[in-house]
Amino acid sequence: MDFRIGQGYDVHRLAEGRKLILGGVEIPYEKGLLGHSDADVLTHAVMDAILGALALGDIGQHFPDTDPAFEGADSVKLLKAVVRLVGQKGWKVHNLDATVAAERPKLAPYIGEMRVRLADAMKIPVERVSVKATTEEGLGITGKGDGITATAVCLLSLGE
Ligand code: MG
Repeated sequence: MDFRIGQGYDVHRLAEGRKLILGGVEIPYEKGLLGHSDADVLTHAVMDAILGALALGDIGQHFPDTDPAFEGADSVKLLKAVVRLVGQKGWKVHNLDATVAAERPKLAPYIGEMRVRLADAMKIPVERVSVKATTEEGLGITGKGDGITATAVCLLSLGE
């Protein structure tokens, strides 16, 4: 079996008057992430990991933020499109491991649902999808509450 590994990283600024959506799950919080789409930073990192595995560029190239079609876009739908794209080339996601860094809110209660949403979008068992959350000890972008960051690593397998 042939494999490819990819990694993704994304950052979005936190702002008032926006919904907070992570891994396709709406999380109650006083702020949300700012962006052209729904600004789901976790799902964006996942898409970049999948695209990166096949050297297919990044989501900015596939879903430009200058295109009104992607305004307010549901990032899970974009993830499904990315999975279709690699599927057409014979590849499927084998497994995924992702980390979200946020000082607040506490993400632990929502991790299970995020895993289910992402696994469903990638058409793989939830056991192959890991989502972890961390704080950054009050330091930097996330620690000061300015934004949320996410990293993801995925393995793609060819065929089967
Ligand atoms: Mg993004």
